[in-house]
This record gives sequence, C-alpha cells and structure tokens, in this order.
Amino acid sequence: MTQLNHPVTVLKGVGEKRQAALQTLGITTVGDLMAYYPFRYDDIQEKNLLEIQDQEKVVLKGTVISDAVVTHYGYRKSRLVFRMMIEQAVVNVTFFNQPFLKKQISLSEDIAVFGKWDARRRALTGMKIIASKEGELSDFAPIYHVNKHVRQSTLVDLIRQAFAEYGAGIEENLPQWLLEKYRLMPKGQAMFAMHFPQTNDENRLARRRLVFEEFFLFQLRMALLKQEETATAFGNAILYDVERLKQFTRQLPFELTAAQKRVINEICGDMRRPNHMHRLLQGDVGSGKTVVAAVSLYAAVTAGYQGALMVPTEILAEQHAESLQQLFEPFEVQTALLTSSTKAAEKKQILAGLENGSINVVVGTHSLIQSDVLFHRLGLVITDEQHRFGVNQRKILREKGDNPDVLFMTATPIPRTLAITAYGEMDVSIIDELPAGRIPVETRWIRPKQVDTVLEWMRKELRQGSQAYVICPLIEESEALDVKNATEIYEHLRAFFLPEFAVSLLHGKMKPQEKEAVMQSFKDNETQVLVSTTVIEVGVNVPNATIMMIMDADRFGLAQLHQLRGRVGRGDKASYCILVANPKGETGQERMTIMTETTDGFVLSEKDLEMRGPGDFFGSKQSGLPEFRVGDMMADAVILETARKEAFTLCQETNWQKQPANRLLAEAVASLAEQQTYLD
Ligand code: ADP
Ligand code: MG
Repeated sequence: MTQLNHPVTVLKGVGEKRQAALQTLGITTVGDLMAYYPFRYDDIQEKNLLEIQDQEKVVLKGTVISDAVVTHYGYRKSRLVFRMMIEQAVVNVTFFNQPFLKKQISLSEDIAVFGKWDARRRALTGMKIIASKEGELSDFAPIYHVNKHVRQSTLVDLIRQAFAEYGAGIEENLPQWLLEKYRLMPKGQAMFAMHFPQTNDENRLARRRLVFEEFFLFQLRMALLKQEETATAFGNAILYDVERLKQFTRQLPFELTAAQKRVINEICGDMRRPNHMHRLLQGDVGSGKTVVAAVSLYAAVTAGYQGALMVPTEILAEQHAESLQQLFEPFEVQTALLTSSTKAAEKKQILAGLENGSINVVVGTHSLIQSDVLFHRLGLVITDEQHRFGVNQRKILREKGDNPDVLFMTATPIPRTLAITAYGEMDVSIIDELPAGRIPVETRWIRPKQVDTVLEWMRKELRQGSQAYVICPLIEESEALDVKNATEIYEHLRAFFLPEFAVSLLHGKMKPQEKEAVMQSFKDNETQVLVSTTVIEVGVNVPNATIMMIMDADRFGLAQLHQLRGRVGRGDKASYCILVANPKGETGQERMTIMTETTDGFVLSEKDLEMRGPGDFFGSKQSGLPEFRVGDMMADAVILETARKEAFTLCQETNWQKQPANRLLAEAVASLAEQQTYLD
C-alpha cells in the first residue's frame, strides 16, 4: 500500500465533513485527488488594458498594492475592494458579497483575478480569484467538475497539497524502454502537469502520456484475455469435408465475391484448428453475410457437428431459417427454427432433435441460449447483427455446449478504433466488397409538405412492379404511441393507394404469427407498401422492394438510417431512399445531408460516432465499451493503435509479468481485470 492510498483526511483542512464532500466527487484517497483532472483550463493571458472591451470578461494578473478593505452594508451585503498594479497602471478591483476572499489577498503579492472589465472607470468587478499564491501563477488555471459540496478553490488547494506532500510517492508503472521509445513523460510529472501546466505544450505531453498509459493497460488486458482464450479454452478441430464444401458453393445461385471467399477461408481456417474461434465478421448491409454463415454452418455439419445461428428478432430468424432451408435441402441438412413463439409440442421435438443430433442446424432468437437447450455436438455458433448483444451474452454463447467456435456477424461498419476497443480480444474479418451489379441507392431528403408529391411519384414506381417500405420513427418510450403514429400513417397511405395497391402494417406490438404473415405477404408481393416501425430494421431481405421512405428521419442516428436504407438496393433495379424530415437543429440537417452524399457505411459510422458518441452509437449501455478517464478513443486513435501494438507484442513474451521492470504494470492490469468495468 502506497501513501497514495491514504484517505484524504491525512491532508490539512480535511475533516470528516470535507471528506464526505469529496466523496461526492468520487474522491476518497490522496491518489484519487491527484488523478482528479480538470476538464479545461482558463487561459490567463496578459492583456493590454487598452484592448479590453467594456464589460468583457477577462483574467487580469498583477501585484496587490493596497490592503483589501471589506465594507458591509444592507442585509448581508458586502463589498471588498483593493487595488492592483498591472504594468504601469493601477486598477480597482471590487468583489461583492465574498468577504472571505480577503485572506487570499496580501500586499505585494501577485494575483490573478477573473472578472468583468469596466473600461470607463478602469476597474474590474471580480468574480473569482484564479491564483494568489507564489508559484501558482502559471498561464493556465485548471477548472474542475465540482458540485455544491466542493468549491473550485478548495479543490485546487487540496490537489496542490497532495502533490506537495505525496507527489514523490507516485510510482512509474510503465517500463523504461517504453518511456524512451515514445518519449513519454514520467508519470508523476505528467499527473502534476495535468493540473498545473506551465505551457500548452507541457500539458499536451502530460495528457499524451496518461492517455497512452490508459490505453496500454486496457490493451494489455485485451491481449491477456485473448491469450487465455486460445491457450486454455481448447476448442474442437472441425475437420470439414473440403469436397462437399466445394460442391455446396458451386450450387449457390451466384458466384461468391472475392471478399466472401476470403472471409470464408479465414473462418474455415479457424474451424480446422483445435483452437477456439472467436471472430468478428464485419460487412456492410447487403454485402452477403448470410451466405458466408451458410457455408460455415455447412462446413461444421460435414464434420459431424451441429451449428446454431442466433439473431435478434423473430422476423429475421424466420427469414434466415427459410433461406438456409432452401440452400441446405439438396444436401440433406436438417434445419430447425426455434423462437419464443415456437409451440410447445414443436419445441419439445426440436429440443429432442438437438439433443440427439438429428437436427444439424438451428436458427433462433435468444431462446437458443436458454439452459433447456442442449446440443448433441455443437461445433459452431454464429450470431447475426451482433452489436445488439452485450458482452455477457457473448460470453454465455461461448460457454454453451462443448466450447463451440463462435462467429459474430455485424452490418454496422465499426470504425477500427472502436472495433479494437469493444472487440479487442477478437479476430476480425471484413467483407469489403458488394456483389457485382449493385446500383447505389439514390437518396433524397424532402420536407414533410412534399410527401404527397412523393407519394404520387411512388405510385408510378409501384406501377412498374416495385414495392416500398415506409418507416415510422419511434416517437416515445411508449410503444402504444408509436403504434398509434404508425397506424395513422398506415391509414393515410391506404386511403392514398387503395384500391390499386395493398398496404400493410407491421409493428412491435403484433403477435409473432401476425408479423410473420405480414412479412410473408410483402415478400410474395401480395402487399406492395409496408408501413412499419423499426422492427424491420435488421436483415430483412426483399430484393423486389426498391423504395425506402423514412418518416421523421432526423430522429434516427446515421448508422440506423444506413441500416434501413440497406433494405433496398438488394436487387439489380435502381432503388431510392426518401428521407422525410424537418430538422430544427444543425446536427439533424447535417445528418440528412451526409445521408444524401454517401452510401459508404464506414464513412457514415465514423460520422455517427463523432456526432453521437460511442454509447449511443451502439444503442445501449450494454455495448461493453470501456469508459476512459483521459483518453478519447476517437480523437486519440493513433495512440490507441500504438498502445495496442505494444501491448500485444509484450504479451507474446513469455513471463513478461514476472520481470521486475514490469511488476507495476502487471499489478495494474490485474487490478483492471478485477474491476472488469468493460466485461459486465
Ligand atoms: P447482409 O450482409 O446485409 O446480411 P445478405 O446476406 O442478406 O446481406 O445478402 C444480400 C443479398 O445479396 C441477398 O439477396 C443475397 O442473396 C445476395 N448475395 C449475396 N452474395 C452474393 C453474391 N456473391 N453475388 C450476388 N448476390 C449475392
Ligand atoms: Mg444480414
């Protein structure tokens, strides 16, 4: 236990009351105080008094040339006045109702005061004393997040005290060679300069060092996790039948793209090895992930294993089950569909079939990870649209059955920085190519008042044999209101298109069978217009649908809009995406514009991430993303990459944790593992 673990009460001026106050900021130890970094700095610039505008807020720095005099007047009112000398000029400074500041003002000392400038009187109405002690007058004043229990100035004083008395106890936890290689500032110096930098540059270097440390420890943890996976969790060597696999791919209705072939090879390579596969497959919407899943599942079956495909919605499960059944039928692969709406009798049969091995492949929702589902010989588990699954579910999946290989598929093109942060322990395969002949979807942004004109146009398109989706936004947390909204739009469209075209409605409140019936009739082109809430967001495949109209589009994030748009443009006909929106704010307008400018999922997801932040990007707190104290995984992407590279390299060394130079490092990683902030 180092001195940094001492409670804050060891500091002068911290009793029980202040200890409790600091606690509200999450500060309990001296070390916590030192690591309570400011979120910004007030720039204390020397200003020529003549250049300051009347009523401008400024920080003035000078020497106190008179005693501070406090006058009380009225009920609890007071005025504190003193004079300071700035260069050759004398300035009057007045503070109202802060008589306690008097003790911070001493004759002949330097002082920096933040306040409002009165140009005519050449006087300053003080708002805050930025610094008043020898050695505190740097050009930057740290500004901390505080609350009603703790004052800025208190915090600054305590942090100064903590460094003065315990700063020497800060141990360097990064090995010397790393500090040298990347010219990183020593830890103690960096921590101090985070609070009290002398120059901008010093502050930048301090931050860089601490960001590096934070990312490096995190990536070390990832590297260790990955090592554990491959070393201890012995998976199955799935020795698939290459000939049968070739036959299977030959009978596909299309030639696989080069990218599809490459990722299939990567996946099959993993399966063949006795190690445990733990792979993320990324591919933009429409890039053809389903068929990759099919080939992989078939490979497992030829080796005598079972496979499972898990998806987030019932509609998607049904759709996948159907397309797999079609593909597998000639090859005598038994496929089953298991969801929460599977009838009891049928469920019993399926469970039996999975347990005795007569069913080779099962498609389902979360029902698949329930404990009553037992497999005869589960070799491969694939999840589609995996960003919807939290890390915990990922783990449960991995632990299902006899250590199956696991493949996570996602259509959300995750920027690399995010991928290595959220899924740093996984291998990544990317389908970076769309099947040939795809025509990019043409996107238009219209205002609500233009909707009827667009509907006229839509009618003409429908007459050419096309179909259309109309998506209604989630307006409220309340599903009932969403349904009401969708129903209204549905009624409007029905009135517009009947009797020429059939319109149907799909929403989350419907029973699974009803949903299925609606989807089926849309697939069979019995209905031409499908009005839906976002339940269809992921994965639905109806190649004949060429129009995607999204109401109140500014309510969606870019990644989600991109997903929705991906429902069209799946065949060889020209497709359109109509965004209906009247965004008030700038971001809404920006989002709409970007959508009309690019169909590149990576560009959009980067933008989305910039505009909304990682938590929203993934749509839930379950994202498993770590929260960094200093680092910003987007802005500091380069440091993240470097830290990752070094961490993974270090992990390759046997016994690195035992080397004296790495002792503190190993300890820090171990404590990180204990916290497991990003694993829950
Ligand atoms: P996603 O990656 O979004 O899940 P899907 O697997 O649903 O995409 O595939 C989209 C469409 O592209 C489907 O109709 C599928 O049959 C078709 N497809 C997949 N691969 C190819 C290919 N290599 N050539 C032509 N069409 C393909
Ligand atoms: Mg898909």
